[in-house]
Amino acid sequence: MTPTIFKIIFLLAIVVETAWEIFLTHKNIVWTNKNRGKIPSYLAGKTSSDELTKSADYLAAKGVLATYEGLYNLVIIFAVILFGVIGTIDSFLAPLGNIYLRAGIFFFLITEIQNMLNLPFSIYRTFVIEERFGFNKTTPELFFKDLAKEMIVGILVTIPLLLGVVWFISEYNLWWLYSWVLILSFSLFMTWLYPIIIAPLFNKFTLLPDGELKNLIKELAEKLGISIKEIRVMDASRRSGHSNAYFTGFGKVKRIVIFDTLIEILNNKELLSVLAHELGHFKKRHILKRIFLLQILLLAGLYLASLGIGFDWAYKGLGLNINNWSAIVVFALVAPRLTFWFTPLSSWHIRSHEFEADSYAKEIIGTGEHLQSALIALEKNNLSNPEPDPLYKKWYYSHPTVGERIDALS
Ligand SMILES: [Zn+2]
Repeated sequence: MTPTIFKIIFLLAIVVETAWEIFLTHKNIVWTNKNRGKIPSYLAGKTSSDELTKSADYLAAKGVLATYEGLYNLVIIFAVILFGVIGTIDSFLAPLGNIYLRAGIFFFLITEIQNMLNLPFSIYRTFVIEERFGFNKTTPELFFKDLAKEMIVGILVTIPLLLGVVWFISEYNLWWLYSWVLILSFSLFMTWLYPIIIAPLFNKFTLLPDGELKNLIKELAEKLGISIKEIRVMDASRRSGHSNAYFTGFGKVKRIVIFDTLIEILNNKELLSVLAHELGHFKKRHILKRIFLLQILLLAGLYLASLGIGFDWAYKGLGLNINNWSAIVVFALVAPRLTFWFTPLSSWHIRSHEFEADSYAKEIIGTGEHLQSALIALEKNNLSNPEPDPLYKKWYYSHPTVGERIDALS
């Protein structure tokens, strides 16, 4: 392989991927517009044609923005690769000498430049699209405060990890195995750290006050033999009107987090069904299974990378310098080009978990009725698309459609 051929293959892969994404997005918009305002049978009497039209408009607005963003990213990646921008940044830092200092600043610059380049889209999404459809509650001040916090947390979390990998690559032949152990331990550590240290930097988590809801949740958890340390309500409404709930925890420190927006739109029975669904994910070990699968894939990916570490044509083709941290950049640039084509497989896997969690919730609560009405309320609240294009759904949907879930629950 020569650097030029590798460069052409890489750029071609990016073009095909972007074209495919844009094709799917537009196929979905066209499909949705064809059914515009048509009320699916499960929503009969529960929604209006106007509401469904609004949901189709929301989908189209997001799709158009995603298309521009895809094209914009394509232009940037072409410029970066063809002009060897990453290698130039690296060479610029060469006078620093010490490789860890140099690699640390290099990763910092690369990440922040990337964040800044994507910022206009993120601003437009929040303050134009989300605003127009009534979801946005964030202020410019809060938005930029969040951005600064995310930047600091991102640096503290990722740079040490990357430097660890650089160290392994520099010192050991088995670097891929050691790196994997490091990343695995680190992600387990983050699962523990995230809810207690990082999430509270962005949101307030207040204890759910005593009352009917709290008693119902405790009863449910007891029945399932899960000891819940605490139930907290997150002030999601500070930023957005979208609603959700989740369950986290390791060993004995388990907590349920409910978005305040969810409490606003669901009644207690519906909320309890949603939580039963979340507990279903835990009981069926879905999260563990997903982590396990991802880690196996990561290990395989790192091993493959170790076979390619001496391929100078890959570095040169992408306009990088030949050194140990460029290997990480090659991995970060090349791996997504391969994993992208497995998206439908991963979506299908996660969708099957959703059906399992739904049927678990139905079994525990004794009826699927409340979960059904909760799903409808959530779909309306989030302006989700009730009938996506079939191919788009197969590719991207991590959840079955509400119609499919309601059928399965009946
Ligand atoms: Zn779920």
